Amino acid sequence: MSYPKIKFAINKSLDKRMTYEFLKDGTKAGLNFAEGVLKIHPDLKIAQRLQGKEKISAINKYVDKYYDENSNSLLLAKSTFQKEWDVYEKNFFQAAEGVFGRISWPKGQYKGFISIIPSGPRFIGTKTWQTPYLTPQYFKAQVIHEVLHFQFFNLVNKLKISDQLTEDQLWHLSEIFNDIVQREPEFEKIQGYKKNIGYPDHISIHKKYLSIWQRSKNAKLFILNAMKEIRKDF
Ligand SMILES: [Zn+2]
Repeated sequence: MSYPKIKFAINKSLDKRMTYEFLKDGTKAGLNFAEGVLKIHPDLKIAQRLQGKEKISAINKYVDKYYDENSNSLLLAKSTFQKEWDVYEKNFFQAAEGVFGRISWPKGQYKGFISIIPSGPRFIGTKTWQTPYLTPQYFKAQVIHEVLHFQFFNLVNKLKISDQLTEDQLWHLSEIFNDIVQREPEFEKIQGYKKNIGYPDHISIHKKYLSIWQRSKNAKLFILNAMKEIRKDF
């Protein structure tokens, strides 16, 4: 089976746009993204108090300056991440095949953009995402997390179940699925550690979904069996 080739790149304009987005709508499932951004970039607190065009221009100015001052370390992160990921890429796709079965990977760019913000948004349409460069210890787990999402939503499309769950329910299910899979030993080995539950709101229900997973350890059966619970929980 052939696997996608993952590449890392720099994308300053995406960093500007996402910094704005995360500062604008801060919270999801109990996790405060805006707080995370401001903790690493306290100088953005001034921008956070502004509105509209003034806010956008203050953020853009900050990101431009940050890129100017840190261009060497951003480029270094890009090449270091690439080198490190290349070592584990095959192991990851084989482990993913164990979970999803032999279904081909959806077409797309498979590109991770080095990012100065601490969150990693993913773009299902293009198969691209952002990878925070200030927390290299979590980088492999983060890449695994976003790429698992691509195959998860690809499978959901194949199963034709998206009309049976709301977009929000599907999102919760995708996150709970990753929490479970990324704590399995073959993924733990690649990541270098056992991942914590991603969102505070999912901690108390994790066990219930884990036991559904353990019945089959198969993504397709897990999705089908967990749908009823997701509709009750969200
Ligand atoms: Zn996610």
